[in-house]
Amino acid sequence: MRRSPMERAAVPDRKPERAAVGEWQLGEVLHHLQDGVMVTDAETRILYVNRAFTLMTGYGEEEVLGETPRILQSGRHEADFYRAMWGAIREDGLWSGEIWHRRKDGAEHAKRLTINAIPDGRGITRNYLGVFSDISDLMRSRRELEHLASHDPLTGLPNWLLFKDRVGHALERAERLGHQLALVFLDVDHFKDINESLGHSIGDRLLRRMAERLKEGVRTEDTLARLAGDRFNVCLERVEGAEEALVSARRLHLAMAEPFQLGPHSLHLPCSIGISMFPRDGTTVEALMRNADSALHSAKEAGRNAIRFYTEELTRRADHRLRMAQELRKALDRDQLILFYQPQVEMVSGRVAGVEALVRWSHPEEGILGPASFIPLAEEMGLMSDVGRWVLRMACRQGQAWLEDGRHFGRMAVNISARQVHDGNLADGVRYALRESGLPPEYLELEITESALMDIDTGVMETLGAIRGMGVGLAIDDFGTGYSSLLYLKRLPLTKLKIDRGFVQDMASSAESRGIVRTIIALARTLDLNLVAEGVETEVQRDLLLEEEVRVGQGFLWWRPEPFPQLPCVGGRPSP
Ligand code: C2E
Ligand code: MG
Ligand code: MG
Repeated sequence: MRRSPMERAAVPDRKPERAAVGEWQLGEVLHHLQDGVMVTDAETRILYVNRAFTLMTGYGEEEVLGETPRILQSGRHEADFYRAMWGAIREDGLWSGEIWHRRKDGAEHAKRLTINAIPDGRGITRNYLGVFSDISDLMRSRRELEHLASHDPLTGLPNWLLFKDRVGHALERAERLGHQLALVFLDVDHFKDINESLGHSIGDRLLRRMAERLKEGVRTEDTLARLAGDRFNVCLERVEGAEEALVSARRLHLAMAEPFQLGPHSLHLPCSIGISMFPRDGTTVEALMRNADSALHSAKEAGRNAIRFYTEELTRRADHRLRMAQELRKALDRDQLILFYQPQVEMVSGRVAGVEALVRWSHPEEGILGPASFIPLAEEMGLMSDVGRWVLRMACRQGQAWLEDGRHFGRMAVNISARQVHDGNLADGVRYALRESGLPPEYLELEITESALMDIDTGVMETLGAIRGMGVGLAIDDFGTGYSSLLYLKRLPLTKLKIDRGFVQDMASSAESRGIVRTIIALARTLDLNLVAEGVETEVQRDLLLEEEVRVGQGFLWWRPEPFPQLPCVGGRPSP
């Protein structure tokens, strides 16, 4: 019987001669090898590939001869990877590692690859030999192992290892982008009783069901994990503030409040929740986790079924703001918003030059609230457009009513928030309010704070242009506190600057403030804008302004904002 060269080689007592495997036979051996083999010349042009290569890559021999191995590149590795690989081959004549290749059909697969540089007799590399084996299966099981190491086997949620890692990354991002982050830790009250009375298998099923419910309550960018026992942990990647964290926590709390139906058992399992916030309650993963834990602890102490922030004050404040936010939504429908009016006065004659509408919230329990206590909230809750539209409509109606009454008020000034300026509907809102009320446009003036005009795009320019085009005045409010670009000031279709209260009030004591007021006055003259000095409280301030030839002032010296200012009556329809 004839033996194949391999069989002969396997017989131990007869050492074969090296020449016994002829060139043809060697080719045959390579052909049948399970590993892919590729031989290139010194320029890495492919000279030979075996059958396993063809099977693994999908490329036939005729397609790759003369090509370079680059046709197999997957794009998964950076240039550094290849640089290091070739460095090793040059230095040591050998590289070995894992590499992702792309098959001819586009599929990517992982290989274990060894490349040898084959030198000639003088040590000059003549060929490269690449041998590779498919390790996709290995990679898959490695990924499965990694998943096992980083996930809770019961619920499939991330475990504490992965959770800490995710929180770490989220913290880095929050720090870099300057936003807040919240850790929400949740613990099922009395879970031990379930395990003890109904057994662990019911307990396990329950935990799985809880995980499913909680998953529905978090956003995809947030991480829900189970760190231990009946503890679920959420990292809210990005929150605007404590209220938003509280809203999310309440949603989770609510999701758990529904009884769980497990066979014959209907299980009611309330939970306690503790929250810590970055950066307020800590700036490291450890500190935030510790503080969320202690918040959770205090929620349990508070009689369970409660939500607590790390600090009591934050709990109270977030709670209060959230309640206010909910009430604010209804305030508009319940006619709880009202407008106060504060006249602007020509300082020499005492004549009314304008009236500013200032919004108030007549809160059923807390009394009359100023804009500082609810406008930021309205902005955060996305309610500002509604509030702004309401103010605009009411102010226009009041203006028209005064006109019909023969009352002189100059112009009706309405404050516009940054959101309104940027949301694209302002021109329509103004047009609507004017048409609905019948107020002629030249009686209306919009006040926009300097900071709201900081990033103006062409959309804002068009909006302001359209509004000015109707004949409505445009004032910059709190001027001097922002960073106006002079170029923008020139380009914007403005009619008025309002000198910020701070400078007016410091004028008497600070030469610097006086200097700033003078600069603003000069600027207004150059740009041909009207001027109003805000917050004039004393005669000294008034006289200093008059010295600088500012004609119009607004402040407690003449009027406080009030709902029904006694405006002077003139015969007929007054001009603005
Ligand atoms: P603002 O537009 O600069 O309004 C002037 C603020 O200064 C008003 O405060 C007014 O009551 C107060 N003030 C007037 N004279 C004096 C004075 O002599 N001394 C002092 N210390 N203060 C004086 P208010 O009503 O609390 O409004 C605060 C800010 O809230 C306003 O500043 C305005 O930016 C905003 N705001 C008010 N109403 C609205 C509104 O309807 N929409 C929007 N977006 N913002 C509003
Ligand atoms: Mg104003
Ligand atoms: Mg102001």
